[in-house]
Amino acid sequence: MALITRLLSFVLLLSLAGPSLADSMARQDRCPTLDVSNPSARVRLMQYVCYHIADPGQQAYEAKAPDQLPGGIEWTRANGHDLVFSHTESTYWLRLHLTNRSAGQFRWYLKLNYPLLDEVTFWQSSPFRDTRPIVTGDRRPFSSRGIDYRYFLLPVTLDQGETTDITVRIHSSGALNIPLTLETPQEVIESSNHLTLTHGLFYGAVTIFAAFNLLLFFSSGTFYYFYNAFYMASMGLFLFAMGGFANQYFWPDNPDFANTAIPLLLGFCALAMTLFGRSFLEVIRGSAADRTLKFQAWACVVAVTATLFLPYHQTIISNTVLALAVIASLFVCAAVRWRQGYQPAIWYLLAWMVMLLGGLIYALAAFGYLTDFLASESLMQVTIGGQVILLNYAMVQRWRLLNQKLLDVEHNARTELEVQVHERTAQLRKAMRELEKANRSLSTLSLNDALTGLYNRRHLDNCLPELCAEARRTGNPLSLALIDADRFKSVNDTWGHSFGDECLRRIADVLTRHTKRPRDVAIRFGGEEFALLLPGTDREGAEKVCSEILHDIRHVPIESPDGTAVNLTLSAGIAELRTAEDQDKLFRRADDALYEAKSSGRNRVVISETVITDLEPGPAG
Ligand code: GH3
Ligand code: MG
Ligand code: MG
Repeated sequence: MALITRLLSFVLLLSLAGPSLADSMARQDRCPTLDVSNPSARVRLMQYVCYHIADPGQQAYEAKAPDQLPGGIEWTRANGHDLVFSHTESTYWLRLHLTNRSAGQFRWYLKLNYPLLDEVTFWQSSPFRDTRPIVTGDRRPFSSRGIDYRYFLLPVTLDQGETTDITVRIHSSGALNIPLTLETPQEVIESSNHLTLTHGLFYGAVTIFAAFNLLLFFSSGTFYYFYNAFYMASMGLFLFAMGGFANQYFWPDNPDFANTAIPLLLGFCALAMTLFGRSFLEVIRGSAADRTLKFQAWACVVAVTATLFLPYHQTIISNTVLALAVIASLFVCAAVRWRQGYQPAIWYLLAWMVMLLGGLIYALAAFGYLTDFLASESLMQVTIGGQVILLNYAMVQRWRLLNQKLLDVEHNARTELEVQVHERTAQLRKAMRELEKANRSLSTLSLNDALTGLYNRRHLDNCLPELCAEARRTGNPLSLALIDADRFKSVNDTWGHSFGDECLRRIADVLTRHTKRPRDVAIRFGGEEFALLLPGTDREGAEKVCSEILHDIRHVPIESPDGTAVNLTLSAGIAELRTAEDQDKLFRRADDALYEAKSSGRNRVVISETVITDLEPGPAG
């Protein structure tokens, strides 16, 4: 707020100091005569210009033509100074004596390089030709200028030796700036050409930036781009109007609006600056800065509306003050945001410093403290152009920051996910290892055969030594029978492995059925190899059991998948434990007996050392 107050007091100081500049010019009664054919004299035009300020109520104030001016009017020489007056209600009369000392007739242009004057009337006195006054100004349609040019041009034609008086009457509300030059047609064209390039570049760039931001807004839906486009457009239009182009091209037949347009566009600029700044700086919602900017935006809306109803000389001041206040407050907001750690704010601050300079130049020009309007216009264009570039750079920085944030979030998410996947995989591996271990210990512990449900080899290995020891101790008999399916390979080969498995289960059923005593044990200890442990049974008993088993298998057919009735046969070898014999020897003798059963034709029972049973030949054998 302190900055705004200081700015305001600066502006006020300038407007109070204004008239003294004009008053300080030396007062002289006679105006010198300018030889228009002398270029160095023409460059010092202001040495030859005289003026008279007529305040309201005076006769010269009411006069509408040079012949209505009172006699003995006091003319003041400009003495080389530019004519600049701050806001007054007076009418200004200018006088210029011209003569042509060259040979021949020539034409020159008196050029008034300030487009925003309300009423401007030119008279050229000449006894030789009909020189009608040019009555123009921005309160009249653009066509009143005679020559289609954004500034005021008065053609002056002089014959050899001819002398003329040029009188100009100016009345305008607002600041008064009367930069005059006297140029040949060639000079007018040259200066205009140079400016065409600068103006073209400037307005072209602003238009492209505005259109680009508008497109970004349409494609992204982000309001921030819209505010930027709005700001560029209103700023560009404002300068276009200030430079007199808008009068020339946009509303040449609407002088009323031409006057309103300047404070109106200024109000729009202030509004656009506020909205854009609030959005760009990502001002924290509900903060003091946010409330200030919101209030400011509403003030701008009110100012814009009021501009349509209030007179120009009021709105131009109020809207200029408002715009300066907006620039200052946004500057403070940007500084605060930067200190809060918001990076893009620094670019915004830089852009705004440039803008502050432009704003001051404009204010000085608007209140009549800058003599060379053209120079101030070019300076304004440079500052605004610089600001536009900085703001767009700031926009890119802001976009880069957002993008970086997104990338960081994505990277963090990916890293987190990878860590989680690693953790899960490790957990899974551990679980699988534990499961494998459990499986291994389970199968180690298992004493049963998975296919048939009979005891397995491990049980045989556990039991046999114990049973042998017991038999030796008690003297009770113990028989071991080894039983093997005959030509079982061909069963598998003919009907498939699953049928083979089915047959193995049937054999197991038969074995279970025939081992009726509680201590009898039926074992599957290999592929199609079985064993019977028969404690308390001598070899004859064992032979009987085996014969019954072989008989059952032989006579109960199993239906194969293709419907064939398959009758399996088995061979068995029996050994009864002898005194002082260990389990290995017992097993070997039973195995030898089985071998013998096989080699002697299969489908039979052989008792170790003695063949007891020779069953009838089976179909498979
Ligand atoms: P032999 O009369 O001389 O005993 O002839 P074989 O064909 O029965 O004997 P061999 O030892 O040559 O073949 C044993 C066959 O038993 C091999 C395999 O086809 C079969 N076999 C072993 N284990 C299994 C099993 O678990 N399931 C099935 N379906 N077949 C098995
Ligand atoms: Mg075998
Ligand atoms: Mg076999």
